[in-house]
Amino acid sequence: MITSKQFNLTKHNNLRLNSIAKEFYIPESYNDLTTLIKLLNDRKQRFYILSSGSNVLLKPFIKTPVIYLMELDKTLSYNKETNTVVAGCSVKIQTLINFLADNNLGGIEYLYSLPASVGGCVCMNAGRGKDHNVCISDYLTSVEYLDGEVLNIIEKDKCEFSYRMSIFHNSKKIITKAFFQFPSQEKEIAKKTIKERLDYVKHYQEPKKPSLGSIFSNVDPRIMRRVKGLRVGNAAYSKKTLNWISNLGNVSYIQIVILINIVKLISFFLNKKATLEVKKWT
Ligand SMILES: Cc1cc2nc3c(=O)[nH]c(=O)nc-3n(C[C@H](O)[C@H](O)[C@H](O)COP(=O)(O)OP(=O)(O)OC[C@H]3O[C@@H](n4cnc5c(N)ncnc54)[C@H](O)[C@@H]3O)c2cc1C
Repeated sequence: MITSKQFNLTKHNNLRLNSIAKEFYIPESYNDLTTLIKLLNDRKQRFYILSSGSNVLLKPFIKTPVIYLMELDKTLSYNKETNTVVAGCSVKIQTLINFLADNNLGGIEYLYSLPASVGGCVCMNAGRGKDHNVCISDYLTSVEYLDGEVLNIIEKDKCEFSYRMSIFHNSKKIITKAFFQFPSQEKEIAKKTIKERLDYVKHYQEPKKPSLGSIFSNVDPRIMRRVKGLRVGNAAYSKKTLNWISNLGNVSYIQIVILINIVKLISFFLNKKATLEVKKWT
């Protein structure tokens, strides 16, 4: 296991915020991970789980130990007889989608544009916008997770999936593997759908500017339309994509928080909901 003190997380969060983790751990095996969890539990120490960092808003200094999961389990397998795909938590979502295409399976090509991992996508129940009503849990059958020092398997219907929600939020449960059953799909169709997704993103989103994707999971679109283009320092609500903050260059945590709080305040006064989708680490 790799252990670092005062570790710089800039490259490990998609918003490219400058952030220092007091303690940073990279478990490279299940044994590493269980040993680490035991150590932290003995210290009565909580911890943060970090995967691809595409949905985390990081403070400049993080005292709570951070466990980086992208080296833990990169395995991928397909059992044709049971039509079961098993993906390790550290597998990049694009790797999973390409693997599915190679096996004439598919159904989640719309996730191809996410700079995310399987573990992060399952935790966040990643999907398309609310109108589309599709998410990664559609094809999930069960999840393997570490709770304390014990590996468990939980069936999908007990995971309490809803829009960008699951029981893995803010819990000590660490997703280690996901089990899926995907429908058949010809490779050519998968490739075409992936291309369409990437074209869509190029046209309607700002993939080249560091961001965290959607900021709020539940917010009044009329409010978001009014703040389009609003800028604080080097942070700005995108002019192109609703509900999206971009880093225009060396952004600071406080600039992002001000933009978020402006929307929260307006929503409060208008008696509207503004629920954060991004995970704000305190
Ligand atoms: C450009 C861009 C586009 C995006 N588009 C979309 C979109 O279309 N749809 C969508 O749903 N989201 C989108 N997102 C948001 C983000 O990609 C998703 O929320 C994704 O699921 C996060 O995965 P991650 O691996 O980056 O997780 P991280 O950001 O590392 O973590 C997110 C949360 O999950 C927890 N977590 C991560 N891994 C595990 C694990 N193995 N076990 C337990 N908890 C874990 C973390 O502790 C954290 O709370 C987008 C983000 C960006 C930057």
